[in-house]
Amino acid sequence: MKFEIITIFPKIFDSYFGESILARARKKKLIQIKVHNLRDYTADKHKTVDDSPYGGGPGMVMRADVIAKAITKIKSQKSNLKSKVILFSPAGKKFTQKDAQRLSKYGQLIFVCGRYEGVDCRAEKYIADEVFSIGDFVLSGGEIPAMAVVEAVSRLIPGVLGKSESIEEKRYGVGVPVYTRPEVLEYKGKKYRVPKVLLSGNHRKIAEWRESRRSV
Ligand code: SAH
Repeated sequence: MKFEIITIFPKIFDSYFGESILARARKKKLIQIKVHNLRDYTADKHKTVDDSPYGGGPGMVMRADVIAKAITKIKSQKSNLKSKVILFSPAGKKFTQKDAQRLSKYGQLIFVCGRYEGVDCRAEKYIADEVFSIGDFVLSGGEIPAMAVVEAVSRLIPGVLGKSESIEEKRYGVGVPVYTRPEVLEYKGKKYRVPKVLLSGNHRKIAEWRESRRSV
């Protein structure tokens, strides 16, 4: 899987993608992540990626032509891959685990991270294949959404999770509560115990309990 991220803040990604599971997956070449600076696709000497909104109003809007140029260039380098262009917007379709599963079957995912007042609507309508929101709140940019989707999709690519991580996830299911020592947690004068079934040693009962609590 090749992730291509288009942003005006490329450095944001260095730290997160340089740690833990994703760093290991990159090293093992299970995933590739390439971050592109949108400014590299501008034609003017000021490297302008935004302009004021038609119709007036405050703020700036990201230009669709610069985004189109970046995508055309990126796609032309890997034209044999099954590819999708994804934009982020708080008004997009809510991103879910099902989307992560579906996207994990692609060869190349191109993400466009908006900033300012968002991107020219024509980029959403005519350039993007899908527009995702990661929740009903407004962030200042699409970089955190892009990181979230890269991570959710990568975890589903065979070999990305270590053996124990992937086995645990399959066995428990998503959203199943987990406990570890101490058996009794004391906090603000109250005691909180581990559910008895988990201490019972009865594997069938434990499996049933976990199954009843999984959310996905
Ligand atoms: N003024 C715009 C918000 C722009 S936020 C509006 O009212 O719709 C700037 C950028 O942040 C967006 O282009 C998008 O890429 C990103 N963004 C903000 N919140 C998001 C969310 N909940 N999900 C996905 N992307 C988001």
